[in-house]
Amino acid sequence: MYMSHSQPKYAHPPLETKRRVCRDERERVVLAQLRCNGKSPIFQKYLYDIGASLCDACLQCGQSPDDLHHALYDCPEVDVFRSLIPGDPMVSFWESPLQMIEFLRASQRLPIA
Ligand SMILES: [Zn+2]
Repeated sequence: MYMSHSQPKYAHPPLETKRRVCRDERERVVLAQLRCNGKSPIFQKYLYDIGASLCDACLQCGQSPDDLHHALYDCPEVDVFRSLIPGDPMVSFWESPLQMIEFLRASQRLPIA
């Protein structure tokens, strides 16, 4: 059976961004989580799903569920920081990881370095 050798455009994070963009291991882990499936302990929905939180609401605005989509597109408390994202956020995780890390820091999802 013929198998296509074409690969997804982004089969894995560009290796050269790993240490240059993400200054600490936690940031690298979060970036990988968000690139893979969006499940990360930086979101209350994930913490709720694994039994580590009693509520899945966003700590900043109170809306539920607090997940990747909420953080990137809906949370009104971080509207001002969305200008840090150069394009579609889901693409920017791959093409502009530095800007996405800055957005997550500004949104208080990551510690400010
Ligand atoms: Zn929110």
